[in-house]
Amino acid sequence: MTIQSFFPPQRTLMGPGPSDVSPRVLSALARPTIGHLDPCFIGMMDEIKELLQYAFQTKNNFTMAVSAPGSAGMETCFVNLLTVNDTVVVCVNGVFGLRMIENVNRIGAKLVVVEGEWGRAVQPSALEAALQANPQANFVAFVHAETSTGALSDAKALCAIAKQYDCLTIVDAVTSLGGVELRVDEWQIDAVYSGSQKCLSCVPGLSPVSFSDKAVAVIQNRSTAVQSWFLDQTLVMGYWSGAGKRSYHHTAPVNSLYALHESLVILQNEGLENSWARHKAMHDKLSVGLRDLGLDFIVPESERLPQLNAVTIPQGVDDVKVRQFLLNEYNLEIGAGLGAFAGKAWRIGLMGYAARNENVVLCLAALKEALKPERQ
Ligand SMILES: *Cc1c(COP(=O)(O)O)cnc(C)c1O
Repeated sequence: MTIQSFFPPQRTLMGPGPSDVSPRVLSALARPTIGHLDPCFIGMMDEIKELLQYAFQTKNNFTMAVSAPGSAGMETCFVNLLTVNDTVVVCVNGVFGLRMIENVNRIGAKLVVVEGEWGRAVQPSALEAALQANPQANFVAFVHAETSTGALSDAKALCAIAKQYDCLTIVDAVTSLGGVELRVDEWQIDAVYSGSQKCLSCVPGLSPVSFSDKAVAVIQNRSTAVQSWFLDQTLVMGYWSGAGKRSYHHTAPVNSLYALHESLVILQNEGLENSWARHKAMHDKLSVGLRDLGLDFIVPESERLPQLNAVTIPQGVDDVKVRQFLLNEYNLEIGAGLGAFAGKAWRIGLMGYAARNENVVLCLAALKEALKPERQ
């Protein structure tokens, strides 16, 4: 049998990512591939850097996209900054905080965990207590937008505390970038990473990262080599520096970078504040409808992520049956619960291009039908 070309179904993606990709981004992806050292390509890379600086609200010279998904952005920050001599305070309130711990343990750095409740923001007072009890700590890491639970932590407050104790800050902004307020320079974030497939609505597989000058100095002054060759940023700084010293490190994912460029142009055209406001407006609209359907949010209102709405699955409702109904009958994907919330929650994403009136209306209508007693 000859295998034919693959044509995926047209879905509406309202899960925890990937989110709906804008048609503009998809068409950028189909433009002709050129060499990754072609002068035209390098010019586009310089623009990506500038657009990312805007998206992150930073002047950091070292702002670029790692050629791999958000998880690689996380690992890039941890493996480049940390050695066995460091002590890291990791705040955990969901699955992605646990992954930070995994990174720290593999590096062999000393770990202090601030245990937070799942479905709640990280408590600034808990971080402060941990820093008081561990004066040797020199890094603080936390997840700004915990996609596994839908909780938004106060990154500004957490970084301010970290700075009082002379710590460098590592922040997971995979789901927050473009969806909620994030100000890397003003909030004194030293290392931040994100992902292309959440509120940027680009294809998966790229991880924007940015390092402060202090973080870059730490990386440059390491006495041991970074354990990962591919993620060792001292080897790629030259490529992204714009200093004319572009040399081969790995083949850049050329077309994916066209897509990232387009998604960042879209964000710039809309305006960052407008994008944050749109996510909030769509969240408010969805919230009213979910309440009418009798669905309760897991996270208290003041700590909710607009772009990731985690709701409790009502008693007697079949999780898998509902999600299959939405997918099969409405081509609509919502997210299942993750970690401690597996089987107990749905995660409804309103990320980037998916944060639109049409999607809110579709999701509410489809859920209403799926939840009819006769379907259960
Ligand atoms: C999705 C996500 C990641 C991982 O990104 P991938 O692109 O799936 O590797 C990390 N942190 C958070 C908070 C996320 O939502």
